[in-house]
Amino acid sequence: MYKLVVGLEMHAEMKSKTKVFSPSSNIYNKIANININEIDLAFPGFLPSLNYECVKKAIKMALILNCKIADIMIFDRKNYYYPDLPKGYQITQNTKPVGINGCLRVNNKFDVEILDIHLEEDAAALDHLNTFSLIDYNRAGVPLLEVVTAPCMHSADEAIAFLETMCRIYKYTDISEADTKKGQIRCDVNVNLQDENGNFITPKVEIKNVNSLANVKNAILYEEKRQILALENNEELFQETRRFDEKTGTTIHMRSKADAVDYKYFVEPNIPQFVITQKLINEIKETIPVLADSRKEKYITDYNIDEYNANILVKDIDIANYFEKCVEIGINPNMAANYVNGIITSYINEQGISIKDFYLKEEYLKQIVDKQIEGVISSKQAKEIFYKSLEKKEEPKNFISNENKQISDENIINEIVNNIINNHEKEVIEYQNGRTNIFDFFVGQVMKETKGKANPILTKEIIHKYLDK
Ligand code: MN
Repeated sequence: MYKLVVGLEMHAEMKSKTKVFSPSSNIYNKIANININEIDLAFPGFLPSLNYECVKKAIKMALILNCKIADIMIFDRKNYYYPDLPKGYQITQNTKPVGINGCLRVNNKFDVEILDIHLEEDAAALDHLNTFSLIDYNRAGVPLLEVVTAPCMHSADEAIAFLETMCRIYKYTDISEADTKKGQIRCDVNVNLQDENGNFITPKVEIKNVNSLANVKNAILYEEKRQILALENNEELFQETRRFDEKTGTTIHMRSKADAVDYKYFVEPNIPQFVITQKLINEIKETIPVLADSRKEKYITDYNIDEYNANILVKDIDIANYFEKCVEIGINPNMAANYVNGIITSYINEQGISIKDFYLKEEYLKQIVDKQIEGVISSKQAKEIFYKSLEKKEEPKNFISNENKQISDENIINEIVNNIINNHEKEVIEYQNGRTNIFDFFVGQVMKETKGKANPILTKEIIHKYLDK
C-alpha cells in the first residue's frame, strides 16, 4: 500500500496600497510598466523602504496560523539572476521568518502543520511570445506572503481543502484578495509516497508555480499516479523539480537536485531591523475578525441552520456580517438565511455588486419579513415588495402600507389553520360528532387572526381538509 504525502508552499499576493519595499502603487494596472519607480527597477543608489502595512498583515496571518512570532523583523537577499529580477536578488525572509511552528485546523477535520510564514517580494511578470518576451515590472516588488506546510497532507482533496481555507482567511482579513483568476495564488507542490510504516519510498518531487487550485489538484493526482507506476515498473525515481503542463495535465521534468541553485542568502543590509513588541502583537490581535469556521459552527448550533446553508453564508465575510445583523435585529435565522442565500444573492450577483452596496439594508429586509410572518403579506407579495423597493429605492414599508391584498398564500393559511385546529380540540370533536354548523367558527378564527384578509375560498378549502380527514 502506498500513502500519498503532500507539502505545499503557498504564495499569496497581498492587498496593500503600495509595494512591499517601494512607494509604487500596488493597485492592479493592466497597462504594463505603470506601477514602477527607481527601486522596482533596481537603479543603483536607491534604497528599499519597508511597507509597515504589509508587516502588520504578515504578523496577523502568522497569528491566525498559531505561529510563534519572530522577536525581530529582518530580511535576507536570495541571490539569483533572471530577467524578471533586475536587482539580481529577491528580498525575502530566510534567517528569521515572521512566524514559525504553526498549525491550522481545516474544516474541523484535520490539522495542517505550518513550518513557516514569511514576507517577500514578487518578481516581474514575463510573457514569452514566439520570438521574443515581454516584461511587466508592475509586479516587481508586489508583496507576497509565503506559507510553507509540513509534508502532512495525504490526498489531493486535503490539499485543496487547506488552500480553500487559506483563501477564505485571506479574504476575511483583507490580507489578500486571493483571486486565483488574477494569478494572486501560486503554489509549489511537494509530492512523494510512503509505505504503510511511514517510510518514504519515493524521492520528493517539487512541482513549481502551479497557479490555480484546479491545477494543484490535477498536478497531485498525476504525480501520484506517475510515482506509483514508476515504483511498480521498477523505474528509477530521483529528487527533481517539475512543472505542471495544463494542456496535457501532466508534470514535466525541469531540473534535478544536482542542478540545485545555491542562493547564497545573507541578511539584507539596507532595511533596518526592528523589534516586534508584545504591544504591537496585541494591537494586531485585536483586529482579527471572527473567522469562517467559528461562524459556521455558531450558525449550526445556535441558529439551527443546516450545514449546506451555513457553508454558503460564511463564504464571504460581508454576506456573513449581513446575515448576522439580520439575526441581531430579530429576523428569524432560517428566514434570514433563506433570503440571503436566495433572492439577495441572486440579485447582487446579477447586478455585480457587493452586499455592502445592496440597497435593502438589514432593517429594510426586516420590514418585509415581519409583515410576512404576521401574515399581512404572502411570500409572493413579499417578493414583489422586495423587488419594487429595490427598483424605486424606497423603504419596503411604503409599499406594504399600500398593499391591502388578501392573503392567498396556501402555506400561510395552512399554518394558521393548523394552529387554530390544535388550539380548539373541543370544537374539532364536536364538528366530527356531527355539529357541522360549527364550521363557520373556524373560518371566523382565521379571519380574526388575519384581520379579515385571508382568501375565504382557500380558507374554507383548507379547513375542510383538516376537519374532514
Ligand atoms: Mn517564495
